[in-house]
Amino acid sequence: MKCRLCGAKAVINMRQHKLALCQGHFLDWLPNQVERAIQKYRMFRREEKILVAVSGGKDSLSLWDILHRLGYQADGLHVFTGIDGGRAYAAELQRLTQEFAARRRLKLHIVDIVAETGRTIPELAALTRRGRDKPCAVCGMIKRYILNRIAHDKGYHVLATGHNLDDEVAVLFGNTLSWAGEYLLRQGPVLQEEQGLARKVKPLCRVYERETAAYALLRGIAYIQEDCPFAVGATSIYYKRLLSQLEHDRPGAKLSFYLSFLEARRRGLFAAPENIRAGLHPCSSCGQPTSAPGLCAYCRLLEWGKEPCASH
Ligand code: SF4
Ligand code: ZN
Ligand code: ZN
Repeated sequence: MKCRLCGAKAVINMRQHKLALCQGHFLDWLPNQVERAIQKYRMFRREEKILVAVSGGKDSLSLWDILHRLGYQADGLHVFTGIDGGRAYAAELQRLTQEFAARRRLKLHIVDIVAETGRTIPELAALTRRGRDKPCAVCGMIKRYILNRIAHDKGYHVLATGHNLDDEVAVLFGNTLSWAGEYLLRQGPVLQEEQGLARKVKPLCRVYERETAAYALLRGIAYIQEDCPFAVGATSIYYKRLLSQLEHDRPGAKLSFYLSFLEARRRGLFAAPENIRAGLHPCSSCGQPTSAPGLCAYCRLLEWGKEPCASH
């Protein structure tokens, strides 16, 4: 297979785009695609300060690398979760993120949940009934909370996450199976700033996972390959498998599913009055916005953690 642009040996063939590219052209093409998405969905402007959520996986590290190459002011935020008890997995994620930032002289903020709360995320999740076996809901809530808090405290305009097309399509598929109106309404490349919550953007939303993996590999980005131990059996992984089968038989199916959804959303298909989000107000302890009365979910969790025999 040859590069369509220069005829050299191709390193990747993207059937959905009917495009094979050599290393050099692929490494230029992908940031270019990301820049187009940033412009098309008006994610941010050159003068805005961006905070990238960096887990230490291929997507978030590739995103940070791309934004840096495109000349944006993008700093990183890594949340140390203490996931896996033994901490080897979480420690490795943090090490790779720090190494990446140091090599490129990028600014990285680290929030250590274990130091901040005295518990790992699985331990915090175990304080809730539903989180005892599966900490993902609590993990997601804590990361969103920390991202928003740091963005607010350090004056960032926008939060960027490394969700790729495969992630977005798996979520979209799940939400469509149950016609989850509010979630469908809120899913998209940009979630505008509201009532104390920072604007959130997903610059890789049109990039296939195998493209970010190829990008990371070709750019020599060291990242952790294994999934989080708690990802095993996740519904999203099952959906991803189903959708990859579809993509295999019909190249471009994922992209077209996602883009058609965005177009339907733009035309107001999901905008029913009952989908309007409940009003937010400041948490009585930390001041972060919450829809719950009194304490936000994060502060409530910490309160439970103080009770030795919490019965939640
Ligand atoms: Fe958190 Fe792991 Fe669940 Fe992802 S899979 S939400 S990192 S616990
Ligand atoms: Zn080429
Ligand atoms: Zn709070």
